[in-house]
Amino acid sequence: MLRWINRAIVALLVLVVLPFWWLMIDNRPGNPQPFPISITTLRSLAASMPGPAPTAIGAELAGWRFAPRDVLVAGSGLKPRLIGIIAYRLEVPGHAPILIDSGTTPAGAAKLGLENYDAPGQAHINRWLGEAALVLFTHEHFDHIGGFVAQLSGPGGGALLAKARLNPGQLPPSPIAATLDWPRGLPLPAPAIHLGAPQAVAPGVVVIPAPSHTPGSQMIYVRLANGREYLFAGDISSMAANWQELRGRSRLFSQYLAGPPEDRAAVFAWLATIRQWHREAPGMVVLGGHDWRTIAGAPGHLGIMADFSDTPPSRN
Ligand SMILES: [Zn+2]
Repeated sequence: MLRWINRAIVALLVLVVLPFWWLMIDNRPGNPQPFPISITTLRSLAASMPGPAPTAIGAELAGWRFAPRDVLVAGSGLKPRLIGIIAYRLEVPGHAPILIDSGTTPAGAAKLGLENYDAPGQAHINRWLGEAALVLFTHEHFDHIGGFVAQLSGPGGGALLAKARLNPGQLPPSPIAATLDWPRGLPLPAPAIHLGAPQAVAPGVVVIPAPSHTPGSQMIYVRLANGREYLFAGDISSMAANWQELRGRSRLFSQYLAGPPEDRAAVFAWLATIRQWHREAPGMVVLGGHDWRTIAGAPGHLGIMADFSDTPPSRN
């Protein structure tokens, strides 16, 4: 009898507990070293282009679901956490806005198992895409670039494509970009952002290439005209807890479920880099790729303008 119980315990450990720990909880970052890029470099790049810097940031929620915290923040528990699909708009006085990310499509929402796909919210983002002068993406996953790619098939697709500035990882034949539904007959542009050092793309706006979560991942540093600083971290830090607690996404999600596995070591190195920048610039707002709740719940919404009234209530 005792031997049977021992065997059952071992079997439970091997079949259930260890895989669960490995897939959902394990967060051994090692000793990641920040990349040698200082906040001073980002600030001087932001000031390097003449013209007006952005003065305000708007956000739109295209849909949401709840998922256990462990999914996007390994080892943080099983309580449900809101995961938002978010696009941002930078207002530039006297100029058309700059967009960061673009929401997704109903098919993308179904693939993600969203509980609510906000069609009016996505329609709002699509209008923003039409108005924008420049469109940037944190990375090439369909819940960030999918709304944009879907619009390319419609009227004005060519004009929209001309406004996007993409890096080589965000374009075919890069493996994740190649799975997107690019319209046939519309020649894709050459990459306008190179995967190297940080580069200014507009006054106050700096792209930081950061292949890690995906080959085309990049972060976007913005210094508003009033001096307030923001970092759009994309899915390198999907939630604030990723960079604040140096926690990666769960292995289940980052290595198995969300397409080709991410470069986990590089993600940790970038998370360490974000932490260093935040030590250098404690006032800098770091925006997680799916962390709507942190924005909606912060005093003054971190200076982000949006309709937060339809934020679903917490399920904790
Ligand atoms: Zn992603």
